[in-house]
Amino acid sequence: MTYCPAIRAVPVGLKGAGIHFSVCHKRFTDFFFRFMNIGTGLPGSSLQICARLQPHTNTMKHQLIIRNAQVITLDRTIGDFSRADLLIEDDRIAAVGPDLEAPGAEEIDADGMIAIPGLIDTHRHVWQGQIRGITTDATLLEYMQTMHGTIGEDHGPSIGAIYRPQDVYIGNLVGTLEALSAGITTILDWSHIMNTPENADAAIRALKESGTRAVFGYGFSQTHGHLLDDARRVRSQYFTSGSGLITMALAIRGPEMSSMDDVRQEITLARELGIPITLHAIGGGPVQPVLLLHQEGLLGPDLNFAHANGLTDEELDLIAGTGGSISITPEVEMQMGIGLPVTGRAIAHGLRPSLGADVVTAVSGDLFAQMRMALQTERALQNDRLLKQGQMPQKLSLTTRDALEWATINGAKALGLENRVGTLTPGKQADLVLIRTSDLNLSPVNNPVGQVVQHAHPGNVDSVFVAGKAVKRNGKLVQVDWNRVRQQAVASRDYLFSQLEVAAVS
Ligand SMILES: [Zn+2]
Repeated sequence: MTYCPAIRAVPVGLKGAGIHFSVCHKRFTDFFFRFMNIGTGLPGSSLQICARLQPHTNTMKHQLIIRNAQVITLDRTIGDFSRADLLIEDDRIAAVGPDLEAPGAEEIDADGMIAIPGLIDTHRHVWQGQIRGITTDATLLEYMQTMHGTIGEDHGPSIGAIYRPQDVYIGNLVGTLEALSAGITTILDWSHIMNTPENADAAIRALKESGTRAVFGYGFSQTHGHLLDDARRVRSQYFTSGSGLITMALAIRGPEMSSMDDVRQEITLARELGIPITLHAIGGGPVQPVLLLHQEGLLGPDLNFAHANGLTDEELDLIAGTGGSISITPEVEMQMGIGLPVTGRAIAHGLRPSLGADVVTAVSGDLFAQMRMALQTERALQNDRLLKQGQMPQKLSLTTRDALEWATINGAKALGLENRVGTLTPGKQADLVLIRTSDLNLSPVNNPVGQVVQHAHPGNVDSVFVAGKAVKRNGKLVQVDWNRVRQQAVASRDYLFSQLEVAAVS
């Protein structure tokens, strides 16, 4: 073992052994668990180690240390800490552990805070930010008619059809700021609002301006037409590196909403451009979307399926077997008649659920709500099965920690970002959230993971960091002129409603 220069104090319980630990944490924790038989977990964990990427060098540009937080890393190798520091160097997490030394670093005292990895929303139509709330009592068919003017073959007037670039811009900005404020640091923006090429430019501009990490899903609503060429333009104009804060995906309609010829063309384009694909796949109707894709030889690890409620067991197996992922959006699915969330069935078939809010025109835009919805619905279903057999449930098979993983590391995996985000692991990007535990609904803390999932809400989010940069501090978004943003949102909303003769309720 080598001495860890970032540790100020000898780890509790190890003084007598005279051993100092650094990380190399994989080797260390293997040793530690095997020979010391100490577990992690909050509260009362006696594990006090330092997980560190590498020793300090003089080449570091900026250091930020977040001190004295309860840290839920969700990294199973590192575990959790009842009290620890997070050292951030530039955009990355450099070390996690108690009493880290970081002379000269900018310091934030996070006493009374729980630190968690930034939440990851894998399915949201962000452009709808300024028209929030207009489909809170709608079925899917009514929603489709309002937003896209489509019920079956009939195309009527719709809000989506009249979105101008400035509407996309402000919708995306409001939507992304809402998500950031709620601790969502990565968002899959399913952007099927490409009425003109300028709409794509406007969506991307807002994502960049907000400071979020995002996967911009260049999307198709009713037809792809000229959009295939425009998707190529967007890829070459904005996403040549493929590794920045914002990356690109293709958001395609899929076999339930377009012809297989279109599906084939769109998937072929995405693979030619080297970008992942996201599509809606509800199932349960006349079309078995995943089976069709399988028969066409189009399945693969680059496909992300939203909803998946009505997919057959065979289809879930096919997604799992080909390395694809799913996004569950429980709140909207239960409202709009898309079926019960597929959470338990997906897990039984080897899939790892991820979560999304989908549409703030109907439901809440925060993942605390989505975690609770997904977890409690699945618990209810499982409990109900036993009750109907005359048995009282003895144990719950899903935990709050499972739900927190759905909204973090599983989301990262679904978006192909698991090596960059999703856990508080040294070497990963510094995307993290500080949750204030002195608030009435979180105090005192007796079960950090359980309370984050079951009790927390966006109002408890004190601070949010994306790639080491603060986007929210002390409960307020940083460098956002909310009055300007709100005025633009209201003006856009008024324009959209006036075109459709919808009355705005301020
Ligand atoms: Zn959707």
